[in-house]
Amino acid sequence: MISGVVANAQSQSLFPIRDCRMDVKRRTKIIVSLGPATDNAKVMAALVQEGIDVARINMSHGSPEDHQRRAALLRKCTQEQDRSVGLLMDLQGPKIRIQGFRQGPIQLRNGKIFIIDPALGSQAGTDQSVGTTYQALPEDVAQGDRLLLDDGNITLRVEEVSQNQIITRVISGGELQDFKGINLQGGGLSAAALTDKDHEDIRAAVDIGADYLGVSFVRNGADVETARMLLRAAGSEAHLIAKVERREALDHIEEIIATADAIMVARGDLGVEIGDSEVPGVQKKLITQAQRHNSVSITATQMMQSMVSSPQPTRAEVSDVANAVLDGTDAVMLSAETAVGRHPVRVVAAMNRICLAAERHRSVLVSGHRMEARFDAVDETIAMATMYTANHFDVAGILALTESGGTAKWMSRISSGIPIYAGTRWPQTERWMSLYRGVYPVSFDASSMSRGDINRVAIEELRSRGLVNDGDRIIITKGDFSGIGGGTNAMKIVEVGQVAGEAE
Ligand code: PGA
Ligand code: MN
Repeated sequence: MISGVVANAQSQSLFPIRDCRMDVKRRTKIIVSLGPATDNAKVMAALVQEGIDVARINMSHGSPEDHQRRAALLRKCTQEQDRSVGLLMDLQGPKIRIQGFRQGPIQLRNGKIFIIDPALGSQAGTDQSVGTTYQALPEDVAQGDRLLLDDGNITLRVEEVSQNQIITRVISGGELQDFKGINLQGGGLSAAALTDKDHEDIRAAVDIGADYLGVSFVRNGADVETARMLLRAAGSEAHLIAKVERREALDHIEEIIATADAIMVARGDLGVEIGDSEVPGVQKKLITQAQRHNSVSITATQMMQSMVSSPQPTRAEVSDVANAVLDGTDAVMLSAETAVGRHPVRVVAAMNRICLAAERHRSVLVSGHRMEARFDAVDETIAMATMYTANHFDVAGILALTESGGTAKWMSRISSGIPIYAGTRWPQTERWMSLYRGVYPVSFDASSMSRGDINRVAIEELRSRGLVNDGDRIIITKGDFSGIGGGTNAMKIVEVGQVAGEAE
């Protein structure tokens, strides 16, 4: 048996089996943000070699030409190494910022009055007042509200809104630089999720061939729907990732999960709005909720922040990444660490090793099998039956032959230590499945094969890649190859080396 075999997720023998395996693959996926630090063919090749699963381009930074160039370099490196890495284009959304200052950064002293005035231009700020990119801000705030600047480094209390100026008192001061972000503590800003820039960026993302679109600051399901409509109108089938980073999003989380393809626990902005100490609990809840509703979750921001400059993560960062894995997240994300950090490759290697160690923990191998649930669809039913079988029988892996990736996604909602190889003829399906925990996309085209040959050829494909060995038992799922997603209707247990042709 070759890969992470778990005969019975409840059994005590789990640890010895997994501990002695040198070839166990990481199940939790790693997303890296591209940026100046990855603009080098050697660095990008090394990142792909380290096993990144999804690359993110943050459209808050850089020009359309930068995005094009980065996506092209990623494609070149993945093609050279025959790897499938998804591309996530992340919209800026209505991030509210102050404008700039006349003479560089200012010092805000506690107790002083400071005015935010939308009428001030982009370089008109002083230590008395500054402009904002969000013209409607005075309408959205009231006396007593707290405005958090620069990710919460500075706190201002609103004293009065008068003549479209927000008069504040500095509660917690410090240095303030040009264009830093503004968040309203507790949420409640009325800005729509998609700005004019986002509309343009959606078209750019489609041109570049994004597999995933990140939608920032969504408030509800309707915001996700709007993004989906724009994306489809521009001719893209990309999947949508709703970034949960506003208070309001937590109040509408069920509909957001239902309308998006995945959610991101965007801890940076979320932490500023709801308070940093609320984030760990919310993270756990969001990951569990996504999994239960058959959606996918990403845990993001500051996971390995110190490695922007340091060659080593802190113990706290190691624990943070490990805990996200234990929470059951599909993917962990790196932002500045890879985009502008000094050790983009080292940080991925560190994350890889932390994920692998955390995945050995019992709690992530134990499955909730939805014993009381009724299933709605045939492919869902086959996926659930497969996972039940896999977790209660000695199998080395699962091979899901899939068009849309849906079956593999269903399967990976049930935790286990068993690899889910997902064979598909569609490169984009491979890149979607790159995000799903425990799913390993494999390029496999069964469409022109005779039905009787498929199992044998598919298993040979896994064996030739060294993923299974003679004598391994694996479960194959497939449909009738109508070419339509959602067609999986059968599962079969086979032994590698003993696979007979099937009757047509
Ligand atoms: P950002 O989103 O990096 O685009 O701000 C993530 C977050 O807010 O945590
Ligand atoms: Mn954010």
